[in-house]
Amino acid sequence: MNAPPRARDLGITSCHVCRQITAYTEDPHAHCPRCGNTLHARKHGSISRAWALLIAAAVFYIPANVFPIMRTQSISSRDDNTILSGIFELWRAGSPGLAAIVFTASIIVPVLKFVIMGFLLVSVQRSSGLVARQRARLYRFVELVGYWSMLDVFVVAILSALVHFKILSRVEPLPGVVYFGVVVVLTMLSAMSFDPRLIWDNRKSQ
Ligand SMILES: [Zn+2]
Repeated sequence: MNAPPRARDLGITSCHVCRQITAYTEDPHAHCPRCGNTLHARKHGSISRAWALLIAAAVFYIPANVFPIMRTQSISSRDDNTILSGIFELWRAGSPGLAAIVFTASIIVPVLKFVIMGFLLVSVQRSSGLVARQRARLYRFVELVGYWSMLDVFVVAILSALVHFKILSRVEPLPGVVYFGVVVVLTMLSAMSFDPRLIWDNRKSQ
């Protein structure tokens, strides 16, 4: 099957700020004639930067799960909850919907993102023969879920807000939620650093 040519094959490159099309050049200091932005056919150091951010995110995911993320306090008891114990607590307290949301946002989504980003990076580095379109679809999925990853932080924020309305006795966010926020930001930056055009660069044959 003949794949459509890349812009580089046609001797052109596009400015990633204003999308102006210009002649392709190897010069790393070339500037866009319209907006003056530095031109580069591919993001510089995309793979190493995406790996570094992904590994950092995975490292921060450990304290995000080990340290408590919120404290629930009533007259008789005080509980510090980690992500997992918080999910069980919500379930036990009769909020299975909220427990499911927190489980999806804080366990399923981050782990899925680690796995997919790792897979995309390895497949690009190994010039995988896997269908490029499928991998592009995976990349779009990672971008899409990125918008919803802060959900868990919002849940803690909402719970804290409920205190003011006296619906719950007392809930406070704890440092674990900061680590979780860092994980979310780092995985988003990792996905942004990854240049999806590399998927089409490294095909063995298609
Ligand atoms: Zn431009």
